[in-house]
Amino acid sequence: MTNSEQLFQKAKTFIPGGVNSPVRAFRAVGGNPVFIKSAKGAYLHDEDGNSYIELINSWGPMILGHAHELVEKAVSDAIQQGFSFGAPTRREVEMAELICSMVPSVEKVRMVNSGTEATMSALRVARGYTGRDKLIKFEGNYHGHGDSFLIAAGSGAMTFGEPDSPGVTKGVANDTLTAQYNNLTAVQTLINANKGQIACIILEPVVGNMGLVKPVEGFLEGLRRICDEEGIILIFDEVMTGFRLAKGGFQERCGVIPDMTTMGKIIGGGMPVGAYGGKKEIMDMVSPLGPIYQAGTLSGNPMAMAAGLAMLNHLNETPSVYSRLEEIGTTLTNGMKANMDKLGLKYTINHVGSMFTLFFTDQPVNNFEDAKTSDTALFGRYFQAMLKRGIYLAPSQYEAMFLSTALTDEHIQMILEANLESLREVI
Ligand SMILES: *Cc1c(COP(=O)(O)O)cnc(C)c1O
Repeated sequence: MTNSEQLFQKAKTFIPGGVNSPVRAFRAVGGNPVFIKSAKGAYLHDEDGNSYIELINSWGPMILGHAHELVEKAVSDAIQQGFSFGAPTRREVEMAELICSMVPSVEKVRMVNSGTEATMSALRVARGYTGRDKLIKFEGNYHGHGDSFLIAAGSGAMTFGEPDSPGVTKGVANDTLTAQYNNLTAVQTLINANKGQIACIILEPVVGNMGLVKPVEGFLEGLRRICDEEGIILIFDEVMTGFRLAKGGFQERCGVIPDMTTMGKIIGGGMPVGAYGGKKEIMDMVSPLGPIYQAGTLSGNPMAMAAGLAMLNHLNETPSVYSRLEEIGTTLTNGMKANMDKLGLKYTINHVGSMFTLFFTDQPVNNFEDAKTSDTALFGRYFQAMLKRGIYLAPSQYEAMFLSTALTDEHIQMILEANLESLREVI
């Protein structure tokens, strides 16, 4: 038995499924998860002495590669000054000012401890501000594990949500309406049937959580127009795309400005941090200024703020990070396409900047139904073949890859060689 196998066995005794977040258990791809001991730059190192080139980067946060010296130094400096005070600190002010300067829609911001907290809080604020109860979300979009977001879509264009998980009450589910992504007509239909009742529309402006799916031409603009007409709060969940697809998130790239934005992942530089922000008049409804309650003992934690500030300052001051990530993404996806064409394999690659997904389907993927046409068994075999060759992919077809600036041209060639060999082995 490997060290990872031993650890996993023991883990299963004490932790449900042996993991603290389900996708880590490798259930979608088979086999045992690899236990990671350390990471530096472009590499993960496991408990058995194997190394892997990283294409997940902690599901996004490690955009500069692992243990980047700027973040490392900021945290080790901060640690000398105490771990948590539960009182305001200078770094929180600097962080808030920086986020407001980077993200177009954000005039005021509140720090929380995860993406889940950010979306739950933003939803409460949208409800409190509008005095309405219902929300619209999109099939295949993930907004953390808050009750209101764990709702599967029904088959019709207009449906009341069914809870996705036991423990989510029918009452909560009834307030969550689900539409097909990239389908403005479906959204309009839901709104017409629930006039004056919709507090917000929340979405990933580029979806990373059903594999990478891009908004079609006019979709985001259409949502903006509908929200303006109906007095609905438009929330971009940029927990994945924020500070990744541009320093101001995807909203900077597409020019559609939401009313509120939720952030996470990169914002903490690897520490557990989230944030939500938006228009002043909306954010001023939050306690203690306004009546909408939201709080956190460890929110704005000094070490987390130090890590996040070091990360965001660097991203803000270094445009070459984003041009390099574009270059890596393009080289890698073009190389993969060439490999698959060589083998005559049917596929779709969706790609934006430093995020992409290889879908094992010959159809275009613009929504969850399209994504589900993928051959997930083939993906599982491909994942294992890549892992064996030292390339660490997201362990599910329905996830995006996240690139980092630690990837060199040599790493890209190694990934492409492994890609070709792995595909040869599994198709
Ligand atoms: C990861 C993610 C979340 C949840 O963030 P956690 O920090 O895991 O709670 C929310 N929304 C999106 C778009 C995400 O990718």
